[in-house]
Amino acid sequence: MIKIECDKESLKKSVFEFYRMKFKEKYKNLDDEIYIDINKKYLFLKILDREKIIEKTFEINENSKFHFIINKFLFDLYKDRDDFDKSYGILTGVRPLKLVSKVFKDNNIEDSINILYENYRIDEFDSRFLYKIYLNQINIRMESEHDNYNVYVHIPFCPSRCFYCSFDTTIKNKIKMDKYTENICKDINNYELKFNKNPHSIYIGGGTPTAIGLENLEKIVKSIKNKFRETQEFTVECGRIDSLSVEILEMLKNNGVNRISLNPQTFNDEVLNRLNRVGNKDFKYWFDLAKKIGFEIINMDLIMGLPEEDIEMILNSIRKTIEFNPDNITIHTLALKNGSKLFENHYLNKDDYKNLLKESKNLLISNGYNPYYLYRQKKSVISSENIGYAKGEKSSIYNIVMMEEIENIIGFGLGASTKILNSKGRFERNINSKNLEDFIKE
Ligand code: SF4
Repeated sequence: MIKIECDKESLKKSVFEFYRMKFKEKYKNLDDEIYIDINKKYLFLKILDREKIIEKTFEINENSKFHFIINKFLFDLYKDRDDFDKSYGILTGVRPLKLVSKVFKDNNIEDSINILYENYRIDEFDSRFLYKIYLNQINIRMESEHDNYNVYVHIPFCPSRCFYCSFDTTIKNKIKMDKYTENICKDINNYELKFNKNPHSIYIGGGTPTAIGLENLEKIVKSIKNKFRETQEFTVECGRIDSLSVEILEMLKNNGVNRISLNPQTFNDEVLNRLNRVGNKDFKYWFDLAKKIGFEIINMDLIMGLPEEDIEMILNSIRKTIEFNPDNITIHTLALKNGSKLFENHYLNKDDYKNLLKESKNLLISNGYNPYYLYRQKKSVISSENIGYAKGEKSSIYNIVMMEEIENIIGFGLGASTKILNSKGRFERNINSKNLEDFIKE
């Protein structure tokens, strides 16, 4: 186990995160010892590696960012090891583009590549990929106004619990779903709206919103419409095909929903069945029906790294997804988080996915899908990236403004957060309770 000694707790945490992100689960097998000592003028670093002792002294001043100095040094020390993940250099946060977009804003791409390597050790491939995303977001970034707001409603019910899931979801239960619906509608109706305009986007996510049935979902959709009126983008996650009906899809369309998400996750049904999730043999029926009903944009989600899927199986699922020609494709990488059955069962990823992420990017981009948002998660089994791709101008406003923290968000329901810009230009956050009982009481 790594041992880090440092008086500054936040710095210690940041260095620990660096090891966890860069060595993935293998960080548990490392026994490096790191000693950090800081005075007014110098930062002393001592590392006891497998066979050697490395010592380094850095001059510092009041502007020095200690975690960047240390993590850059560690990156250079470990970068040639096979078990070290070089992606996104020393950045370990969820939103790499949030930091990097400032560099793109002020510099051309060639200068940006140099700056990103010098400052954060991000390589040229990752820099160019981030830049592509930045360009695909630029219209929304430019048009964004301080009083733009977006509405999120969380529905925490699902037809069954997938073994890889770590969300706060509950298997559908009529009494709980009815009560949740009633109380969420009250929350929406009673909300005191301070913005004098329509929302930029509305997003109903989960869980599986369509799992709560036609009547409940219609009540929620109508409450939102009554309260917030028109919007240019209204998304409902219809994730699982075993939660759908013709009536639900028609109701959504008739109430102004223009984007939906149908999520196969993989086209290998045995893999899904082993994970407590229904297979996709009827997927084409639902996809064609959604098209016929007339949703403007359909997204399809896939997950890379599910147990017993090798590189070829994953790439095949991506190819099949491309054949459907959806407007958006979102590629997630499996993350093992507390609360999932796979985590409880100590699932360990044995496959070596080598260049899967690069291959998946090339495959999607060469088929006309442009990356438009990216977030990273810790404890991921392949790489840490989750990437949304879109054809043409079909990026999701909500995904961009939420992930890049560009606009206000009003959140309803279990665990949803509301983020409102204050007069100092900072977001004030308010996170709802994550306890379902708080939402289903009288
Ligand atoms: S992965 Fe999706 S469908 Fe499965 S339990 Fe989690 S939220 Fe529900």
